[in-house]
Amino acid sequence: MANKVSSRLAALSPSETLAMSQKSNELKAQGIDVINLSVGEPDFYTPDFIKEAAKKAIDENYSFYSPVPGYLSLRKAIVEKLKKENGLDYTPEQIVCSNGAKQSVCNVLLSIIGQGDEVIVPAPYWVSYVEMVKLAEGTNVIIEAGIDQNFKITPTQLKAALTDKTRALILCSPSNPTGSVYSKEELKALADVLSDYPNVIVIADEIYEHINYVGKHESIAQFENIKERVVIINGVSKGYAMTGWRLGWIAAPQWIASACNKLQGQYTSGPNSIAQKAAEAAYTGPQNCIAEMRVAFERRRNLMVELAREIPGLKVNVPEGAFYLFPDCSSYIGKSFEGKVIKDGADLSMYLLENAHVAAVGGPAFGAPNCIRFSYATSDDILTEAMSRVKKALAKLN
Ligand code: PMP
Ligand code: GLU
Repeated sequence: MANKVSSRLAALSPSETLAMSQKSNELKAQGIDVINLSVGEPDFYTPDFIKEAAKKAIDENYSFYSPVPGYLSLRKAIVEKLKKENGLDYTPEQIVCSNGAKQSVCNVLLSIIGQGDEVIVPAPYWVSYVEMVKLAEGTNVIIEAGIDQNFKITPTQLKAALTDKTRALILCSPSNPTGSVYSKEELKALADVLSDYPNVIVIADEIYEHINYVGKHESIAQFENIKERVVIINGVSKGYAMTGWRLGWIAAPQWIASACNKLQGQYTSGPNSIAQKAAEAAYTGPQNCIAEMRVAFERRRNLMVELAREIPGLKVNVPEGAFYLFPDCSSYIGKSFEGKVIKDGADLSMYLLENAHVAAVGGPAFGAPNCIRFSYATSDDILTEAMSRVKKALAKLN
C-alpha cells in the first residue's frame, strides 16, 4: 500500500511520443547513431526578435507572478490575432494562457468532463487526448477514420457516435499524427450535425494552424450555429518554433474560460512570465518567419512522401499540414525477423529503432494499430538517410 499510486494515475499510460524520444536519446548517449523522428517539434531555432523580447522582459523585471490567465497585453495580442487571421471575435476575458497547449487541452477537459461523460475522439488521435479524458474520469468514444478516408471523420460517423451522454468532441486540424486538414465545407458539415446537440462542446485543437500546405486555416469556430460551444486550442509551440517555452492558450465561451481560470489558479498559476512576453512579441511582430518555416516543412513533406512511396508495401497519403507522415504498414504486420513476429505498429517501430536506428512512434498509441508515425521536422539529408535505413530494414522482414 505504501508505494501504491492512485487508481486515477494507475489507469494512465505514459506518453509514447516522449517515451520513444527518450529511448532514442538513451541509445544516442551509448554512442549509437540514432535518427530521431519520434517526437514532433520544429528543428528551427526560435526567431531572433522573439528571443530579444524575452531578454528585454528579463531586464525589465518581469519576474513577478502574472495574472492567472496571462498578462492582459498578451491576451489582447491573441484577440487581435484571432480577429486578423481567423476573422473571429473574442474578448481578452475569453482567453486563458497556460503552460503549453497540452495544459490547455487538459484544463478544458477537467473543467467540463465528469464521470460518465462521453468524449468523442476521432482516431488516429494525438496520444494525450484519450489519457486526459481518463484523467477527467470521462469515457472515450472513438470514431475510426482510416487512410482510405484520408483519416477524416464523416458527418454520418459523427452523428452515429453522438448520444445523450456526449459532452465533447476533440477535433484536431491540421492533425497530429496524420497531417490531415479539414476543409471549410467538411467543417461546416460537422458543425451542422453538432448544431442539433446543444450540450456538446467542440475542443478544436489548432496548434498546427500555421503548418498548412493547402491554403488558409479554417476554424470550426467560424460557424455561428455552434460558435458558442467551441473552444479553440492554440499556442506558439509549433508555428513559432517555441516548444520549450511552454505557452499555449484557449479562446473559449466565457464560462469555460472562467472555469479554466479557477482550475489553473489552484493548480499552476499563470504561465512563465518571460515566455508570455516572448509569445506577445511572436503575435505582434513580423510574421514572415512562419512562412519561411512552412516552406521548409512543405519541401520535407514532399520528400518524405516520395521516399516512403519507394518502399514496397507502405500505404502513404499526402499529409496537408503538420509535420508527420503516418503510413499504414499493414503489409508488414505478421512478418517476422529472427523468429520474432511483428504484431503491430508498436513492434514495427521497436524493430526499426533496433535494426535501422530510426526512432518513430508506433500507431497503437494513436489508436491506429497498423500505422507508424514519422516526424519530418528535420533536414532533407537526415530524412533521406532515415528512409533509406527504413527501406533496408523493412526488406529484411519475411
Ligand atoms: N496538441 C497537439 C495535437 C500536439 O501535437 C501538441 C504537441 N505535442 C500539443 C497539443 C501540445 O503543444 P504544446 O507544446 O503547446 O503543449
Ligand atoms: N507534438 C509532439 C508529439 O506529438 C510533442 C510530444 C508530446 O507532447 O506528445 O510528438
